[in-house]
Amino acid sequence: MTDQSPSAPITQDVVTIPRRLPEGGRVNLVGLTREQLGEALIAAGTPPGQAKMRVGQIWQWIYHWGVRDFGLMTNLAKDYRALLADRFEIALPEVVTRQVSADGTRKYLLRIAGGHEVETVYIPEENRGTLCISSQVGCTLTCSFCHTGTQKLVRNLTAGEIVGQVMVARDDLGEWPVPGAPKDETRLVSNVVLMGMGEPLYNFENVRDAMRVVMDGEGLSLSRRRITLSTSGVVPEIARAAEEIGCLLAVSFHATTDEVRDRLVPINKRWNIETLLAALRDYPRLSNSERITFEYVMLKNVNDSDADARRLVKLIAGIPAKINLIPFNEWPGAPYQRSDWERIEAFADIVYKAGYASPIRTPRGEDIMAACGQLKSATERGRKSRAAIAVEAGLPSA
Ligand code: SAH
Ligand code: SF4
Repeated sequence: MTDQSPSAPITQDVVTIPRRLPEGGRVNLVGLTREQLGEALIAAGTPPGQAKMRVGQIWQWIYHWGVRDFGLMTNLAKDYRALLADRFEIALPEVVTRQVSADGTRKYLLRIAGGHEVETVYIPEENRGTLCISSQVGCTLTCSFCHTGTQKLVRNLTAGEIVGQVMVARDDLGEWPVPGAPKDETRLVSNVVLMGMGEPLYNFENVRDAMRVVMDGEGLSLSRRRITLSTSGVVPEIARAAEEIGCLLAVSFHATTDEVRDRLVPINKRWNIETLLAALRDYPRLSNSERITFEYVMLKNVNDSDADARRLVKLIAGIPAKINLIPFNEWPGAPYQRSDWERIEAFADIVYKAGYASPIRTPRGEDIMAACGQLKSATERGRKSRAAIAVEAGLPSA
């Protein structure tokens, strides 16, 4: 693999930890695909002929009922339950803190293996509840407006740690079904967005496997149309995401010229706007999904002019799209300011008149630093200096 390979980190080392625990430790079943779970059960002594049935039973206990204790899996023989308890565990990330914003947004700081921390945010809305999950500790990319991008240390989350975030939220919201109770069709976690910390397409296999678990109809059972993966534009992985995950796609577009996008989203230097748009044009057909969400952060005097709005609609012509305008969320040391409200509305209006939905994303949970781009674990102290961020953004470092 050369350093030009799409999965190579751009500036920092990414650590991927093995899925299985060392010899003697219990294997965590959370996040294993059905096939992997079957293999694990057979390795523990389950007769191969029974494996499929056992996978189905255990799967339902874990992902439908939210059970963590093998002793409660009453449709399994007692000594089989004991064997499972001896060899396996059903473990979630540990909740370090849970903050609730004045607007109802909840932010969880979670501790994962190695003492690393990630954040997960739950955003309740009138007719849905969206869980924003992380795919990496930090991010190897260095988008100059993003707080996560200033964090030095990076590690890929395992599939179990990604699925675990959904389960932690369901625990906290008390959302597991109660046996015998009438079925409640309203779901608190009705949507999942991969828009927390990290670039999901740089942790492809774990994200894919985790989403397959989340989409599985006998468990968490979220439809692929209720899952949105946001990428900064890892072009070679976009078609693969369509084929192997099939969820909705959002793209961090943020600029209408390569010159500005190079500064805001440096991955643009590797895959520029034209290359990115070509991959996006193919996505709806390959994934059999509807429109793509173009995320566009509104930065004062950087990317927010009428000319930008007009260039944007010209660039995306022919792609079924919605433009999500994100007022910039400030963080300590950020080298940008949020565009004025009138400017954002004028921009939205041009996009709307060109025939695209152009919702302005209301910042949620700002009082607890839970808004887009503000996530960063305080414990990952190795942060770049303000000057370094400014240099990368091509700005004066004053
Ligand atoms: N790494 C992925 C997903 C996580 S970021 C990606 O970049 O797409 C989720 C969204 O929040 C992205 O569109 C990102 O560009 C945006 N974002 C990052 N920092 C922000 C900030 N400070 N204010 C507003 N949006 C921000
Ligand atoms: Fe990483 Fe996304 Fe932040 Fe860019 S915007 S640094 S890709 S998390």
